[in-house]
Amino acid sequence: MTDRPRIGVSACLLGERVRYDGRDKRDAWLVDVLGPRVEWVPVCPEVEAGLGTPRPAMNLGRDATGRNMLIIDGVRDDLTETMTDYSGRRVGELASAGLDGYVLKAGSPSCGLDVPLDSQRERGMGLFATALTSRLGGLPVTDEHELADPEARESFVDRVFAHYRRRTSG
Ligand code: SF4
Repeated sequence: MTDRPRIGVSACLLGERVRYDGRDKRDAWLVDVLGPRVEWVPVCPEVEAGLGTPRPAMNLGRDATGRNMLIIDGVRDDLTETMTDYSGRRVGELASAGLDGYVLKAGSPSCGLDVPLDSQRERGMGLFATALTSRLGGLPVTDEHELADPEARESFVDRVFAHYRRRTSG
């Protein structure tokens, strides 16, 4: 068993070059400050679902029934089933991985907690984030925008370490 909290994280935030454009979104505070105190479990849902890097830019859409959809910009190819099936499987694995928290990339149609729909009139949650928060309701979850606020950052770290202590005590 690890002697540090385990935190799931959108892999691009650790500097992995897995974004649709082949770049990363390295977050210096996560990597350099929080990193030495925790064990990361990096996950890139779009790469793990087989969409490749680089890949076309994607958006979050909504169909007539109110279901959120993952669609490719412009051509509107529908990758919803691919991402939903993958997310169900992967979140099932993460549920037994002993996680104490999760940091998601903001704004992503897969990882984002609060994403503008392609219509721009409404907002929704990315498909992987939806599966994660539905299955792991008690897990401290945040995104890198929230972590830019010092109070929210401290609160997240406190909740992660409290979760770790509960998980490993007794
Ligand atoms: Fe992968 Fe999520 Fe980062 Fe997009 S936001 S590159 S799906 S980890």
